[in-house]
Amino acid sequence: MLHATHQQIKAVGKKIDLTPEQIDKVLQVNARHEFEILLKNGQKHNAYRMQHSNARGPYKGGIRFHPEVNSGEVQALATLMSLKTAAVNIPLGGGKGGIQVNPKLLTIEELEELSRKYVQHLSPHIGPYKDVPAPDVNTDPRIIDWMVEEYEDLTGDTTKASFTGKSLGKGGSEGRDAATGRGGVIVLAELLKHMGLSGKKLTYGIQGFGNVGSFFGLIAAEEQKKWQMVAATDSSGGVFEKNGLWPAELDDFKKQKKQLRHYPAGIKITNEELLSSDVDVLVLAALGDVVTSKNAHLIKAKFVLELANGPVDDKAHELLEKQGITVVPDILANSGGVIVSYLEWLQNLDDKHWSLTKVNTKLYSLLQDAVATIYNASIDKHMNLKEAALAVAITRLLQAQ
Ligand code: NAD
Repeated sequence: MLHATHQQIKAVGKKIDLTPEQIDKVLQVNARHEFEILLKNGQKHNAYRMQHSNARGPYKGGIRFHPEVNSGEVQALATLMSLKTAAVNIPLGGGKGGIQVNPKLLTIEELEELSRKYVQHLSPHIGPYKDVPAPDVNTDPRIIDWMVEEYEDLTGDTTKASFTGKSLGKGGSEGRDAATGRGGVIVLAELLKHMGLSGKKLTYGIQGFGNVGSFFGLIAAEEQKKWQMVAATDSSGGVFEKNGLWPAELDDFKKQKKQLRHYPAGIKITNEELLSSDVDVLVLAALGDVVTSKNAHLIKAKFVLELANGPVDDKAHELLEKQGITVVPDILANSGGVIVSYLEWLQNLDDKHWSLTKVNTKLYSLLQDAVATIYNASIDKHMNLKEAALAVAITRLLQAQ
C-alpha cells in the first residue's frame, strides 16, 4: 500500500513539474512512533502512530485496531490524510495510528486497558495543538472516550479537543455519524452541477450498505428527489429493483441484524453482479480494492463514487477513465468525515456545541469549495479528478512547508 501511495504522488508530482526534491519532501514522514503494549494478561501488541505532516496544522487521523495493521500501511494512511486535509483545505495535517490486535478476542476490560496504554505511550506527542486522533476501523466513540479520559488524567487538559469522534455527551459533534455519507451526497451533487448534469434523474447502487452507505442512501432520499436507489448490497450480497428501493426500509431491515440477500423485494444479486448492474452511479462504500483490472470492464455506470478508501485500484482507475467513466476519488468523496472531525475540534477549542444545522451548513460550504477547486483544476490541467485532487493537495502541502 505504501508503494502504491508513493507511486501516485510521484506520478502526479511529475505531471505538475515538481523537482525530485519536492516530491521527496511530500513522501517524508515527520515522526514515527512504534512501540509494544503489554497487557496484564501477558499479551503483547505492536502499536503505531505515524505523523506525516503538520505543515498545515496539527496531525489528524484515525486509530485502527486490526490484526493486519503494520507500519507501512499506517504510514501510507498518514500520508493520505495529509493529502485529504489539504485537498479539502482544512487547517490540519495528517497522521494515522493503529494497534495490531483482533479486538473481538479481548474482553471489555482488556480493550479499555489497551486503549489507555496506547495513550500512556503517546501522550507527550499528541494533544489539541499537536496531533488529534480519531476512530477508524474497529474503534468507536466508547474507545475514544477512554482515550480522552486517559489523556486528561495524564496532562490535565480539559478542552476535549485531544481526540475527535467522541460520544455526543462527552464533547462529540452533532452530525459526525452521518458526515461521510452526507459528504458523498454533497460531492456528487456539486460535481453534477459543474458538469451541467444537475436536476437530471439518475439511478444508483450501493456496495456496502453499512454506516457510510446507509447514510448516503438516507440523505440522498431526503435531499435529492431525482436520484433513485435501485441496488444495494452488504457482505452477503443484496438486491436490484429497477423500480427503486427505499433506503429507510433497507436501513430498518439492516437494524434488525438481517442480511440484504434476504431482503424481500427485487432480484437477488451478488457483489460482483452489483458492479455490472444497470445504474448511472456506482457507490462503493465497503472495502478497498474491489474494482481491479479483472472486473473494471464489467462496470456500466457513468460515475463511480469512492466512499470507501481505495475501492478502485490504480490500474482499474485508468481503465475506467478510458471507458469514459468518471471516478470521484476517495480523497474528496469521503472527506465529509474528517471535515466534521475538524468542526468537532473547533467546537471543543471554543467550548461550544453547535446545532446539527450549523455543522451541516459548514460541511456543505467546505465541500462546495473543495469540489469547485478540484473540478476546475481537472479542467485546467487536463487531469482526471483523482490526479487533480492530489495536485491541489500536494501544491498546498509544499506551499505550507
Ligand atoms: P461498516 O462496517 O459500517 O460498513 C461496511 C459495509 O460493507 C457493511 O454493510 C458490510 O456488510 C459491507 N461489506 C463488507 N464486505 C463486503 C464485501 N466484500 N462486499 C460488499 N459489501 C461488503 O463501515 P463504514 O464505517 O460504513 O465504512 C465503510 C468504508 O468507508 C470503509 O472502507 C471505511 O474505511 C471507509 N470510510 C469510512 C469513514 C467513516 O466515517 N466511517 C470515513 C472515510 C472512509
